[in-house]
Amino acid sequence: MIKTSLNPSGDGSGAMTDPFGRTISYLRVSITDRCDFRCVYCMSEDMTFLPRADLLTLEELDRLCSAFIAKGVRKLRLTGGEPLVRRNMMSLVRSLSRHLTTGALNELTLTTNGSQLERFAAELADCGVRRINVSLDTLDPAKFRAITRWGDLDKVLAGIAAARAAGLAVKINAVALKNSNEDEIPALMEWAHGLGMGLTLIEVMPLGEIGEGRIDQYVPLSLVRARLAKQYTLTDLADDTGGPARYVAVGETGGKLGFITPMTHNFCESCNRVRITCTGTLHTCLGHEDASDLRKPLRASADDQLLGEAIDRAIGLKPKGHDFIIDRRHDRPSVSRHMSVTGG
Ligand code: SAM
Repeated sequence: MIKTSLNPSGDGSGAMTDPFGRTISYLRVSITDRCDFRCVYCMSEDMTFLPRADLLTLEELDRLCSAFIAKGVRKLRLTGGEPLVRRNMMSLVRSLSRHLTTGALNELTLTTNGSQLERFAAELADCGVRRINVSLDTLDPAKFRAITRWGDLDKVLAGIAAARAAGLAVKINAVALKNSNEDEIPALMEWAHGLGMGLTLIEVMPLGEIGEGRIDQYVPLSLVRARLAKQYTLTDLADDTGGPARYVAVGETGGKLGFITPMTHNFCESCNRVRITCTGTLHTCLGHEDASDLRKPLRASADDQLLGEAIDRAIGLKPKGHDFIIDRRHDRPSVSRHMSVTGG
């Protein structure tokens, strides 16, 4: 168990409300920028990763997350890079789970590519994790290898099976990719729904240099939805998650299908999220270059007063929303950070 020096009665107690009246209650933490896959829309094949010495220790990450929880975060998602490849990461999960026990945190969850899930699923469940998101863009082994460059589909499927066997609810996330998996979306949905798992589709975003243009990857989900609607009965569901996805019920499968549409329609007005990186940088918007360093105040003193003040200053700068564009004139990254740094 990680020992922490959080001082919950310090400046960490004030709730976080941004200049547009949005209360921040959801924190996503990229605990490593490294990944065992090289998905073509996420990274270039020869990615340069941060020097390990720049990373916050797991104890520091725990303290940072705990400071946010003291300031009103109710949902915490560990992500990356691939969170399950960071050495000893389960000690962080175990330690953070104390906030579930106290009731300070409603949910501790993670987003993973599934490659290491077979090893960790039971322990995650034991730590109080109830639901996880697994990113999976195709069920075709060759296509899977082409998209992830390094991934092995069988390992991911075994990971998903292990997670379900451990009692975790699994939601599948798939990025819709032009001329790649777009034709396979009905099959992916039938498979996921057949196993009682939700599927959420995501539009590719122009985040980071990937060594190729985005225009060849991007397909608007409005188009995907229109195609699905010819084959399936899609009924809009009331928004109950507060997240960026909009959901439909699919009559024929009985399952739930989500659409995350940062390109064609953003839902920034209800954004309750901020993100921190493994170096302790706070990003209050996925689609902006804004960044506030929390590592310095974190390391400057053992109590959380300076940290709390730095968090408040950063939340005060949260932008109203983002505007991504991908077209022939805008085929460059909108934001220089890769998703693996900011945390998906
Ligand atoms: N490694 C974990 C995983 O695969 O889920 C967590 C990190 S990954 C960066 C989180 C999510 O971001 C994945 O679903 C991935 O497909 C998505 N993603 C990465 N780059 C993206 C981009 N440029 N546009 C849209 N989604 C992206």
